[in-house]
Amino acid sequence: MNILLFIGPPGSGKGTQAILIHQELDIPHISTGDILRDAVKENSELGKKAKKYMDAGDLVPDDIMIGIIRERILKEDCRNGYILDGFPRTTLQGEALEKMLDDNNQSITRVFYIDVEDEVLVKRILGRQTCPQCGAVFNKYFQPPQEEGICDNCEFKLITRTDDNEQSIQNRLKKYKANTLPLINHFKEKDLLVNIDGSQTIEDAKNQILSYLER
Ligand code: AMP
Repeated sequence: MNILLFIGPPGSGKGTQAILIHQELDIPHISTGDILRDAVKENSELGKKAKKYMDAGDLVPDDIMIGIIRERILKEDCRNGYILDGFPRTTLQGEALEKMLDDNNQSITRVFYIDVEDEVLVKRILGRQTCPQCGAVFNKYFQPPQEEGICDNCEFKLITRTDDNEQSIQNRLKKYKANTLPLINHFKEKDLLVNIDGSQTIEDAKNQILSYLER
């Protein structure tokens, strides 16, 4: 059973890698960012609460996030493992996850820490465009679609996330350094951390991750 965590700053490519590994291993890909964005789209109670934090680049409060994950990982499709993308993001979320797993005699298999320098991150985020239909991710600067603004796979119009703007990005990076970096040290001490250079090609990063999973 693989319980895999993908952690990294915004724009590091953790979501892209999590999707690729989900396709390879055929276990659910649980992205807290996607769950929240869906809730915002549906204008549910969760969505209404989360939107203001997300747009400002702030973290959604821990109790909300822990509740979401607690419910999600108990679902039937998670019984053979899963990938968490974007959770945990704070020490408190990390402790809560470890406790939930402990209570079920489970534990984290590996934590993939995908890192990229700040300058590249900002350009990646500002250029990011996603397909609302199939979830494919493109980048205006680094990986443009064949036709500007249109998804290569399903020809849907690409969208830019409302939180992918300069002000929000700077805040997200600040919050990431303050809240998430300590968590990374925690996993390092527990010998669970694998460092992945997020500035290499998508394919190389994927192969590096797979090589760790085969060990
Ligand atoms: P992401 O798609 O992972 O970059 O997440 C987008 C936004 O959703 C973040 O900037 C946060 O506002 C919120 N979010 C996602 N996951 C979490 C989490 N584990 N804890 C707190 N906020 C989160």
